[in-house]
Formats: sequence, C-alpha cells, structure tokens
Amino acid sequence: MATILDGKAHADHMLESVRRGVEVRRTQGLRAPGLAVVLVGDDPASHVYVRNKSAACTRVGITSIEHRLAMDTSQADLEALINQLNADPEVDGILVQLPLPKGLDSKRALHLISPAKDVDGFHPMNQGLLLEGLPGLRPCTPTACMSLLAHHGLELKGLRAVVLGRSEIVGKPMALMLLEQHATVTIAHSRTRDLPAVCREADLLVAAVGRPGLVEGSWIKPGAVVVDVGINRVDDLALGARIFAAEPKKLETLRAKGSVLCGDVRFGEAMQVASAVTPVPGGVGPLTIAGLLANTLLAADSPKG
Ligand code: NAD
Repeated sequence: MATILDGKAHADHMLESVRRGVEVRRTQGLRAPGLAVVLVGDDPASHVYVRNKSAACTRVGITSIEHRLAMDTSQADLEALINQLNADPEVDGILVQLPLPKGLDSKRALHLISPAKDVDGFHPMNQGLLLEGLPGLRPCTPTACMSLLAHHGLELKGLRAVVLGRSEIVGKPMALMLLEQHATVTIAHSRTRDLPAVCREADLLVAAVGRPGLVEGSWIKPGAVVVDVGINRVDDLALGARIFAAEPKKLETLRAKGSVLCGDVRFGEAMQVASAVTPVPGGVGPLTIAGLLANTLLAADSPKG
C-alpha cells in the first residue's frame, strides 16, 4: 500500500511559516500584507474558493480585501479596478478569481496586474523569470506541489517525471520547476500518443488534466510517486462505478450524496501500485491556498519600485 501524501498537514506547515513571516513584519513595525481578491459574477465554486482564501488570510494575519463585481461587469470596469489596485500601496497581492464570466478577456485582465503584485504568477514577466530560473512570483499550485515533494524527501535529480496536462497554470510551470531540479521531464497532453505507456515511464507522475479518474492503476509504474492536481465533481453513477471500483467508500458517498469530488487519478488503484499518492480532496487543493499566501508575503517583503 502506498503512503498518502497529506496535503492538508503540509499546508498547515506552510501556513505556519507564513504566519511567522507576518509576525516578523509586525515586530519590525511594518503593516500586515494585503491581498486583494477580485470576484466577478456568481460562480458557486469560485465563491467557495474565495471564502477559503479569506479564512486562510485571517488565520495567518494577512489582510484580505474582497472586491465582488456583478456578472455584467464590463472589461473597462474590471481593468479600472485592477489599475486602482496596482496603485494602492496597501495592496501587495492581486488575485482575479477565474473563470471570469463569458465576454470578459481574462488574459488581458491578468496581464494588466503589476508583475510585483501578481501573486498567482500568471503574468508573462513572472512566467519569463521562471523560464530563466530566476526568482519571481511563481504559480501557486506547482510551487506548492514542489514544496510537498521536497518535504516528502523525494530526490528529483535524474528522475523520470511525466506531467500530464500543459496549462499555463499548472502543467507548464510544473514541468519547468521539475526541470530546474534536474528531473528528466515529459509533458503529456490530449494529443499524446499512447498515454498509458508514457505515464508508465514515470517515477513521478503529476496529473493536471481535469478528467475524473483518467489515470488507471495500470498506467502507473510500480513504486512511482503520484501527485494528483485534478479536482473533479462526479455525479454520474455509471462513471463512478468504473473509476471507484477500488474505492468502495467513495462509491458509497456518491450513491448517498449524489456527487463526490475526485482527482484525475483512480486513487484506490494508485494506492495499490504507487509508493506515494496525494488524495483528492485533501492533497494539492489546500496546498494551493498556502502557496498563494506565501506569495503574498513574498510580494509584501520584496522591495517596491
Ligand atoms: P486546463 O483545462 O487548462 O488544462 C488541462 C490540460 O489537460 C490540457 O493541457 C489538455 O491538453 C490536457 N488534457 C485534457 N484532456 C486530456 C486527456 N484526455 N488526456 C491527456 N491530457 C488531456 O486545466 P488546468 O487549469 O491545468 O486544471 C487541471 C485540473 O487541475 C482541473 O481539474 C482543475 O480543477 C485542477 N486544478 C486544481 C488546483 C488545485 O488547487 N488542486 C489548481 C488548479 C487546477
């Protein structure tokens, strides 16, 4: 049986380190770091994320400033708010919650955020710094995954790593961070031929696809470490019966509650083959918020101008 990589416990550890950093600022007479969160529209999942972020801010002493905008907000109004936050000296980090409602150009909005306040690490300037291996604000989810792997003591040098998914948010930056640590990295995606065979080469498999239970136990190399970034809600019983065959409790919950959260990896099957696996929920999810707050502290502590 594999070890469960407890993301919640590691997130607590990361948050404690942020809390201490905020405390140090306070003893130096500096104000608390400020994180501005912009939420447009009424996507229920986004509201849950924003609430969780705000609770985590309170826990570590970061000031969370929420800006809730109506569903029909114009691009010009959204950009005016971002410009205002860029200029606000009390704001160290700006996060625009995605997805934005249809009709709004999220790339344009994200590119407008000052790179120094880009705590999501999505600005081309920060992505360029990552590409060059230079310090900057890096995307929270892959940064937090790297922190979890380091904490787990996984030696990345020379390791065969496969990153499944090539998004700007997770897949690409994750691959770059693994490369920086001298892993031999393959990025696989929706057009990759013979995905199971590619995955089976991996000593470290990171799945960031958004397809429930895509990765079967037979795709995993025995003894591999598996990081499951996917967060999917499943409400289809037939699909559940297939992907939760080795996870009877999950299937029971799906039957009882009508839906259940799961990752891109069939957790029950992975547990029988891998050496370590992150669960969903309780794996990468809590780490991402911890990574965001670590970035906010880093932005606050960085020299301005
Ligand atoms: P995305 O939709 O931007 O990218 C998905 C990637 O998966 C694409 O590169 C695509 O090529 C690839 N892909 C799609 N179908 C595939 C298939 N059948 N086979 C192989 N590759 C396929 O998604 P994203 O933003 O990177 O998010 C991926 C998942 O991670 C989602 O479930 C998302 O909810 C989750 N996520 C979780 C966190 C967290 O905090 N845990 C953070 C970000 C994203």
